[in-house]
Amino acid sequence: MNMKTIESVDFQGKKVLVRCDFNVPLNKDRQITDDTRIRECLPTINKLLKDGAAVILMSHLGRPAGTGFEEEFSLAPVADYLKKTLSCPVHFHQDAFTEETVKAAQELRPGEVLLLENLRFIKGETKGDETFASYLAKLGDAYVNDAFGAAHRAHSSTAVIAKFFPNDKYFGYLMANEITNLEKLLHGAEHPFTAVIGGAKVSSKIDVLKNLADKVDSLIIGGGMAYTFIKAMGGSIGDSLVEDDKLATACEIVEDFKRKNVKLYLPSDTLCADKFDNDANRKVMPTHAISSGWMGMDIGPDTIKEFSEVINASKSVLWNGPLGVFEMENFSEGTLQIGRCIGQVTERGGYTAVGGGDSVAAANKLGLAKSLSYVSTGGGAMLEYLEGKTLPGVAAIAE
Ligand code: AMP
Repeated sequence: MNMKTIESVDFQGKKVLVRCDFNVPLNKDRQITDDTRIRECLPTINKLLKDGAAVILMSHLGRPAGTGFEEEFSLAPVADYLKKTLSCPVHFHQDAFTEETVKAAQELRPGEVLLLENLRFIKGETKGDETFASYLAKLGDAYVNDAFGAAHRAHSSTAVIAKFFPNDKYFGYLMANEITNLEKLLHGAEHPFTAVIGGAKVSSKIDVLKNLADKVDSLIIGGGMAYTFIKAMGGSIGDSLVEDDKLATACEIVEDFKRKNVKLYLPSDTLCADKFDNDANRKVMPTHAISSGWMGMDIGPDTIKEFSEVINASKSVLWNGPLGVFEMENFSEGTLQIGRCIGQVTERGGYTAVGGGDSVAAANKLGLAKSLSYVSTGGGAMLEYLEGKTLPGVAAIAE
C-alpha cells in the first residue's frame, strides 16, 4: 500500500484540514467520559502545529438528523477539551458551514487551531455529497485523514474530499499506525497465530471468520456466539443466546476451518445463569448439555485452562469480542483471565492486538489494554479491515 503519511512532509505555512474522530462518549451533563479518541489524535495535531501550520479540525459526533445545529450533538465539549489541552489558540466555529466559516479559516494564523462544528449537521456529509466535500476542501490547502474510526464510511469528509487534494493528501499518525498494525496482523503475523473471537452474535463476525480462515493456525470461539456453533454441532444449549438462522453458516465455517487445517476451539464448559442478571443463580455445565431454564453467560474453568494453553503457545494473538457478559461482574472472569493470558504473550515478546466492536471497552474496563501490543481505535472499521474489505477512507489516500 502507498502509505503517504505526514511524517516526511513539512507543513510550514500551510492550512491543513484534518479529519479526526472526536466521536467521544458524553454523560448527561455533556462531559467527556472517555477521551481516548481525542488523545490519540494529538500527535498529528502537535506535529502540524510544530511545523508552523494552521490546523483546521473536522469531526462528527453521534448521529444528528442532518438538518442543522442540535445542542445535544455539538462539538463544544471537544472544543473546551482542546482549549485546555493544546498550548495554542483554539477557535471553535459554531457557524453552520457558511461564508463565516470560510472567513474564519482564511483568518486562521500559523500555530493556531480552528475546530469546525459537527459535520453531520449537514445532510450531505453522510451521503458523500461532492458539493459539501468541495466546500470543505476550499478551507485548506492540504488534507490529512486521522479518523480511523470513520474510515469505513464513504462520507464527504472521510473519503470524497481527498479527490480535491491529489498531491496533498496524507494519513495522520493514528491512521498510519492502525493500517501498519492491521497489515501486520493480516499479512505478516508470526506463527503460531491464534484468533480469539467472542461477542454476542455470529452474524456480525461471519466475514471476519471467513477471512481469518486463511491466516490463523487456531481459532478460539467464546461469548454468546459460541452457542450457535454448539447447537449447529448437535449440542443442547438451554436458553443461551442463539441465532437459529445461522446454524447452517456455522456448519460451513466449521467445515472450512477443517479443510484449511485450522484448529477450532469451542468452550467445553460454561458458567450458566437462571436469568440474565448479575445476581442470578450460577452453575457450571458442559457447553453441549446446558439444561433448559439456564443460559450460558461466561466460559467455564476448564475452558479457561484449555483456551489459555492454546494462547500460551502462540506468537501472535488477535482478540475480538468478550468471552462472556463481561459487563456483569459475576460473568466477567472468563474475559479477564483470557485477556490476562493474551497480555502474557506480549510480555514474552509476542504480538497481540485487540479491537472491533465492544472489545476495547472490555479491555479497558478490565484494565487489560496496557498489556497488549496494539489496541485499535476503530470498532466497525477494524472489523471491516479484518473482513478483507478496502476501507473508503484508506483507499481515498492510498490510491
Ligand atoms: P460484540 O459487540 O459482538 O463484540 O458483542 C459484545 C457483547 O456480547 C457484550 O455486550 C457481551 O455482554 C455480549 N456477550 C458475550 N457473551 C455473551 C453471552 N454468553 N450471552 C449473551 N451475551 C454475551
